[in-house]
Amino acid sequence: MSSPVWHPFTQHGLKEAVPHIVRGEGAVLHTADGRTLIDGISSWWVTTHGHCHPRIAAAIAEQASRLDQVIFAGYTHDPAEEVARGLVEMTPEPLAHVFFSDSGSTAVEVALKMALGYWHNIGNPRHRILVLQHGYHGDTIGTMSVGERGVYNRAYAPLLFDVSTIPFPAIGVEKETLLALEAACSAGEPPAAFIVEPLILGAGGMLTYDAMILREMADICARYGVLFIADEVMTGWGRTGTFLACEQAGVTPDILCLSKGITGGSLPLAVTLATKPIFDAHYSTDRSRQFFHSSSYTANPIACAAAAANIAIWREEDVLASVDRLSRRLAEHMATLAAHPAFENSRQAGAIAAIDMKVRDAGYLSDLVPKLRAFFLDRGILLRPLGNTIYVMPPYCIDDDQLAHIFDAIGKSAALS
Ligand SMILES: *Cc1c(COP(=O)(O)O)cnc(C)c1O
Repeated sequence: MSSPVWHPFTQHGLKEAVPHIVRGEGAVLHTADGRTLIDGISSWWVTTHGHCHPRIAAAIAEQASRLDQVIFAGYTHDPAEEVARGLVEMTPEPLAHVFFSDSGSTAVEVALKMALGYWHNIGNPRHRILVLQHGYHGDTIGTMSVGERGVYNRAYAPLLFDVSTIPFPAIGVEKETLLALEAACSAGEPPAAFIVEPLILGAGGMLTYDAMILREMADICARYGVLFIADEVMTGWGRTGTFLACEQAGVTPDILCLSKGITGGSLPLAVTLATKPIFDAHYSTDRSRQFFHSSSYTANPIACAAAAANIAIWREEDVLASVDRLSRRLAEHMATLAAHPAFENSRQAGAIAAIDMKVRDAGYLSDLVPKLRAFFLDRGILLRPLGNTIYVMPPYCIDDDQLAHIFDAIGKSAALS
């Protein structure tokens, strides 16, 4: 009867319903008992064009019967070469080197290792990492270290390395952020890198900040020679209205992390892009200077074929027009919701919209969260609020009726506050 599966971020003791999903199509998931769910969060921020996009599914099938896997240390294959070339074309020119891994967390681990490897190999070792308050970069020990500390990592705190935290640039206190960053760059042990989620902090509560501030933070880092790492694992692939969120600030990071939407949300894959100086610091005839990182499935050919198909879609279709249409619809719905007395702090970054429900207990472990999840599930909607923050981040193909149904349910969920 009971399943042996141990689910992520799930308190099994609450005995919440665990819908059994058998099929996905566009913005809809089908359950084993014949119900449909509108995927309001892109299956945890990964699905871009919609579930089971025919072109991506076909590329996966084709690649699976041609070459499934091959060692990537010292070997290469067409799908990886195609993805790397495509990414270099789609990103700012200084990002000229592409390192593959398997998840957002590993893309960030790789970024941190590249940054420290750079300083080590140029003979000027630096170890201190600057992070933004409320940041989230993954669930491995290294990525938890550079993320917000809280209930979700308290048990592991003794293993997490020290970082310097820059206050979040909330509206009205941006100046403090910039002063703190400048102070952290100029005083004490010189930092190796500053890691940020551009324009919107995801798991930290869908917190938005101004593109100008992103620009100024990057400029300060450039001025002090601190490497700027953009974690675009959530924001990349059009989610904020441009291919990269950094584009809106005219920022070119030294290191860029991409994952989630890289395969259109079909298979796990990630990349870390780096500039020439970072690659060159590892380039030598001396093997002790090579980049010491790999995983068994680095640049898996099937995952790369899915990414190559996704890149072809980006090249041939106007993906950003779909994002723009969705963003405008979201803005209309949010305007209505913002007028509702049960909600506050509405905010949006492209195709991500968030609002807070007014409640006394607003924390991540708020009792409200399981109630809201069940409320939406009962109405055929997959939403997963972060504490009292309800956010909508659907696949770009979601239609107006599906979106209206989601926002109608959010409005009615106010009865639970
Ligand atoms: C999801 C996410 C990660 C971690 O990605 P995983 O694939 O879950 O390891 C890292 N950074 C950001 C900004 C994310 O949203």
